[in-house]
Amino acid sequence: METNLWVVDKDVDKKKGYPQLAEAARLLANNEVVAFPTETVYGLGGNAKSDEAVKRIFEAKGRPNDNPLIVHVASMEQLNEITTEISELAKTLIKKFWPGPLTLILEKKEGALPNSVTAGLRTVGVRMPDHPVALEVIRMSGVPIAAPSANTSGKPSPTTAKHVSDDLNGRIAGIVDGGSTGVGVESTVLDCTVPVPVILRPGGVTKEELEAVIGPIKEDASLKNQAVTPKSPGMKYTHYAPDAPLILIDGKQGFFQQIIEQYQAVGKKVAVMVPEEHKHDYQADYLVCSGSLANLHSIAAKLYDTLRTFNDLDVDIILAEVYPEAGIGHAIMNRLLKAAGHQLIKEE
Ligand code: AMP
Ligand code: MG
Repeated sequence: METNLWVVDKDVDKKKGYPQLAEAARLLANNEVVAFPTETVYGLGGNAKSDEAVKRIFEAKGRPNDNPLIVHVASMEQLNEITTEISELAKTLIKKFWPGPLTLILEKKEGALPNSVTAGLRTVGVRMPDHPVALEVIRMSGVPIAAPSANTSGKPSPTTAKHVSDDLNGRIAGIVDGGSTGVGVESTVLDCTVPVPVILRPGGVTKEELEAVIGPIKEDASLKNQAVTPKSPGMKYTHYAPDAPLILIDGKQGFFQQIIEQYQAVGKKVAVMVPEEHKHDYQADYLVCSGSLANLHSIAAKLYDTLRTFNDLDVDIILAEVYPEAGIGHAIMNRLLKAAGHQLIKEE
């Protein structure tokens, strides 16, 4: 299949018209799959009401079919089309955080969506993306759009159109290139079907920000304890992994350097992922800078690009520092631990 590439301005200029977006929307309405930027990562969109389109998404990504998709809407009408009665609490969150990187798990309206979207669950994950291109494509297509990240399943999520093309060129109908995404990590997934909402996946909206609006909330036990089965089906799969194994190191500089040298002593080429502030701390075969600790948002914004960088290096093992688990740091550490298959070496 030939994959169309449409380069557009991030800020949709309504006066100029937008033939590229109209073409992308037309293909979506015809149940083809198309990638487009959101404020978190690039999404691989398909008509959420079409079983055929949804199956194409799973096929293009090689995604396990028990992992439900998030449905993206551009209006409250589209939300009401697919969900039943929305609680006051959910309404408060929508008012405060939409459009934005917050996915709400809500009761699904019977018959509104094919079972393939929600992997047979009676609930559905929904969000309204805060990106002019995403909102316009969804609006023009006229249907709610199911959109997981536009990468091959298991690989780091895409934050540029090139990342999408590297993974999916020839497998999807088109890519709308609207430049780099902003937040860089996926949406926070919040279960609102229980009396006290539960974070199933940390993401772009932090626990602190949510609690400032609705008071104390919970976190799925699996986020802290790997032995617990996650409530969110997708959380159990390998995700975000670079080609070479990644290990996180939680210790002082001397401890970290010792591990680098142990690998080098057995002939391994070692790459290290470090924040700007520590880039002179280590001697390794490669150093890749992750951004500044002074601004964790900048680290999140380029996290997947940093992880993808290692695939272009001749490297046997990647070692990475851990990050403070405050605010967006929760999402950064959640993604890094998954990318590392939970391999973490802690200094005693
Ligand atoms: P992705 O599309 O890769 O960003 O992943 C979407 C995440 O949302 C996965 O972890 C899914 O398991 C989760 N998710 C989507 N729908 C539901 C739902 N109805 N209940 C629980 N988790 C969901
Ligand atoms: Mg994904």
